[in-house]
Amino acid sequence: MTATDGPRSLRLAELDAHTFAAWLRDGSGTVLVPVGALEQHGPHLPLGTDAILSSRIAEAAAEATGSLVAQPVSYGYKSQQKSGGGNHLPGTVSLDAATLIGLTRNLVASLLRQGVRNVVFVNGHYENYQFLYEGIDLALADLGLRDGDGPAVLLLSYWDYVSEETLRTVYPEGFPGWDIEHGGVLETSLMLHLEPDLVDLGRAVDHPPAALPRFDRLPVVPGRTPASGCLSAPAGSDATKGGLLFRQVTGDLARDIAAELGGTPG
Ligand SMILES: [Zn+2]
Repeated sequence: MTATDGPRSLRLAELDAHTFAAWLRDGSGTVLVPVGALEQHGPHLPLGTDAILSSRIAEAAAEATGSLVAQPVSYGYKSQQKSGGGNHLPGTVSLDAATLIGLTRNLVASLLRQGVRNVVFVNGHYENYQFLYEGIDLALADLGLRDGDGPAVLLLSYWDYVSEETLRTVYPEGFPGWDIEHGGVLETSLMLHLEPDLVDLGRAVDHPPAALPRFDRLPVVPGRTPASGCLSAPAGSDATKGGLLFRQVTGDLARDIAAELGGTPG
């Protein structure tokens, strides 16, 4: 999309209603919804990291496919100790599952009812996924839509787009696993590439990966979360790795959206 052949912004919040209505008529009809959380990410990353990253990734994919990006969902489901350090930590402000399901259900129904053809949820907070899925499913049932009826909703978490080849470059000493990538090399490198002023590497703490049990225990045992709040250390993060991650993920995501839903190939 360029300034001459489409809306002047790809962010819905920055468009007027008449421009949006014209885009519904003439545009790709696909709206991306970034989803994140307000969650502690250690001493070196901001609380809004998940929504910042999903928004920037969604915007790049939207630009490549002639799509638009809705306001991000900036709060998420409760941080869990084995994937986010835990909901007990200061700075983590979360939604109950029923709230996130209801919010997702409302967003899908509202977007599709006014003529959006396809919706793509770009998730940036691990714990959200199944509740987004449920909200989408309930909205499609509310609207009476079944297989092959036309409108489609895609749901993805952006890290599922990181290729094996990229992983080998970003983690030359071996990938610790997605479950403990919280405040670690992936998020820190992406933030160093996209929002370096919001990262303070001087406050980053080096420590071994969190050793967490196979079970979830509630209430959590707070001492099982490393004192930094990160589940793996950000040591080895840099903006070059962030740039590689960003380009590879957004390129593959744009290609998927174009292939699945139509629109300008990325
Ligand atoms: Zn995160």
